[in-house]
Amino acid sequence: MPSCVMRFCTNYTNKVSKSQGITFHSFPLNELRRIRWVDIVRQQRKEESWQPNSSSKICSNHFKDEDKYTSCNGFILLKKSAFPVLEATEDSQSTPASPSSLADENVSDLESILDTPHTAALKNCVRKLTLEKQKLINKNRNLKKQNRRLQKKIANLSAILNQVKEKRIL
Ligand SMILES: [Zn+2]
Repeated sequence: MPSCVMRFCTNYTNKVSKSQGITFHSFPLNELRRIRWVDIVRQQRKEESWQPNSSSKICSNHFKDEDKYTSCNGFILLKKSAFPVLEATEDSQSTPASPSSLADENVSDLESILDTPHTAALKNCVRKLTLEKQKLINKNRNLKKQNRRLQKKIANLSAILNQVKEKRIL
């Protein structure tokens, strides 16, 4: 059960933290970014020789909202440039809007140029989900057709069966 490595932070992965939208993030693999993260944790913990292990995680309370984005499958991810902040943010517990709740489905590429990476990522999700939805609608339509064909076949076979039964009785 990984817990947050930041000092005074009591968050650990359980159902409560999940329901509050708290996510846990591993240390970056990139050397330079990793050093920066470790440096911040050392400052925050006031431990000069602190080292993360493979299961060390930092919870989402120590990242700025603009450093987070929601992936298409609903996971909260960090941007590559994200790094933890010394003071935990109060409002960071609010979960970013889920892609499905966005009403604006028709997003032009022109607009995206002006978007922040977070918004752009969400719009990308919406676009993908809209495509997915269209595919499912088509699939549903085809299955309904197939269903109608099979119903007809059943009706024909039942009719034949009845005829056979009648002949036997005669
Ligand atoms: Zn934490």
